[in-house]
Amino acid sequence: MYRTHHCNALRPEHIGQTVTLVGWVNTVRDHHGVIFVDLRDREGVTQCVFRTEENSAAAGESHELRAEDVVQVTGRVSERPEIEGKSTVNASIATGEIEIVVTGLTVLNKSEVLPFQLDKDQLGEDLRLKYRYLDLRRPRMARNLRMRHLVAKAARDFLDEQGFLEIETPILSKSTPEGARDFLVPSRLNPGKFYALPQAPQQYKQLLMVAGVERYFQIARCFRDEDLRADRQPEFTQIDIEASFITEEDIFALIEGMLARVFKAARGVEIPVPFERITWREAMDRYGSDKPERRCGMEFVDLGEVFKDSTFKVFRGALDNGGVVKALNAKGFACVTTGQINRLTEIAQEAGAKGLAYIKVENGEWKSPIVKFFSDAEKAALTEKLAIEEGDLILFGADKWINVCNVLGRIRLEVASVQELLKDDPRLDFLWVTEFPLLDHDSEEDKWNAVHHPFTRPVAGDLALLENEATFDQIRAVAYDVVLNGCEIGGGSLRIHEPDLQSKMFGILGVDEEHQASMFGHLLSAFRFGAPPHGGIALGFDRLVMLICGEDSIRDVIAFPKNNKGQEVMNGCPAEVDFKQLRELYVKSTVQEKKPVQS
Ligand code: ASP
Repeated sequence: MYRTHHCNALRPEHIGQTVTLVGWVNTVRDHHGVIFVDLRDREGVTQCVFRTEENSAAAGESHELRAEDVVQVTGRVSERPEIEGKSTVNASIATGEIEIVVTGLTVLNKSEVLPFQLDKDQLGEDLRLKYRYLDLRRPRMARNLRMRHLVAKAARDFLDEQGFLEIETPILSKSTPEGARDFLVPSRLNPGKFYALPQAPQQYKQLLMVAGVERYFQIARCFRDEDLRADRQPEFTQIDIEASFITEEDIFALIEGMLARVFKAARGVEIPVPFERITWREAMDRYGSDKPERRCGMEFVDLGEVFKDSTFKVFRGALDNGGVVKALNAKGFACVTTGQINRLTEIAQEAGAKGLAYIKVENGEWKSPIVKFFSDAEKAALTEKLAIEEGDLILFGADKWINVCNVLGRIRLEVASVQELLKDDPRLDFLWVTEFPLLDHDSEEDKWNAVHHPFTRPVAGDLALLENEATFDQIRAVAYDVVLNGCEIGGGSLRIHEPDLQSKMFGILGVDEEHQASMFGHLLSAFRFGAPPHGGIALGFDRLVMLICGEDSIRDVIAFPKNNKGQEVMNGCPAEVDFKQLRELYVKSTVQEKKPVQS
């Protein structure tokens, strides 16, 4: 037996007992020749005192202890003494009322000097990733791993209670166009052929519905070979869910229940359910985003009525062309600097605007290059509609509806960030975004793409619009995202279960019959054998845990993440392999071998 207690277990009621603890030397302090060690294990820290009169050999040896040595300590649980009339109780740790007076010490392993101090906060990420096993010893990271476990367990328990079966689907799978680039795995047994790692278990979970499983879930690994950002990893985890004979309402209630359970388990908070709902169109119209961060206010105001007869050409022109004029009021931001206005203009241009019109309201005056074009009636209407007051900054967009929404959406978030409107805001704002568009036109390639994926069901009332390409962009999907504080934490849809409709959908997406048969033949054939109506959703598990932990990067909630080049810094993968391994796989690299430098 290595230990009788862990390092966070002992309290005054244990005083007098002899105990054995194991762990890492967290800190060593020498007080006038007496060594104090804070011993740390996964659960916490306990102070151990090495007194010569208890065991002189151990006390002698304690002088050699260094941070991160692994030791076993036996001793008596004692009250922390008073020194010179002052209590030595440490209220900041749970075991702070006691200490162990050590009677025996075994050094289980020594540690070399660490490449970084574990209690240092500002560490370079590459260093942390190279020595990830040390990084994970830090309390913050240890807490994140534990939180991840709690979230997974709460979700699993909840789904189990709701009758969902956890079923694993293959990792070696087939390449299909799901949106991102696939990771490929050459097959030795099938020369020239490749598996693809699943971008999501989408087709398998639908096939499980055809199989009569009715309720499936999986904490599933997914793989997408994409360029990486702070919240993207080449491999990531989803809580993947699919059910038969289920409505959109059922799915909303299920996910609300699951998130309520998860937040209770992980953060101890009750989240109010049901979540509010907003259609995609309304989300774009009011916040310029399909994942609106509602906590920072600044909803867009439509000014079509105000400027419909305006002499200001930019606004009037946009309206005459069937576009819109909208604005937002950045309260108290008239103090915006020229640099900040330039940056906002750049962002507007990146998002497709020609420029950014604004009004600063300072010292009772409207300061703006465009105010001279406004009539008194227009000014009065603006004041009323935007509730303009001293100190405000008004920002405008005038163009096609979608462009204005996108531009002002970016501007709104930038203003919130510069004004630090959301700093330390503890609110949890959950929201469903519904009725996403089914199709999106790629004008460069002149083709239609599925906004969610090719298996998503159109809204019943919009089915007729599938007959005419001119109305494709008006078709709504029974697709929904769940959003928390401006982050999409999950998305799903009701699915097509009729083979003819599915085939038609593939056709619209440019997959001809031959390719439908080779790529999706199994699915279309399955749909001919009694496929039940079904639907589902997948939640981004890493992102959810990240938000619960209050971290900014999903790397901080993944035990062994890749860096932003998709590399694992610790073991150096991806790495070259032997020529022999490649030959066995019938693979030849086209990367030029490095030539030795000629001298
Ligand atoms: N498979 C989808 C995704 O990964 C989610 C779903 O439709 O259930 O986005």
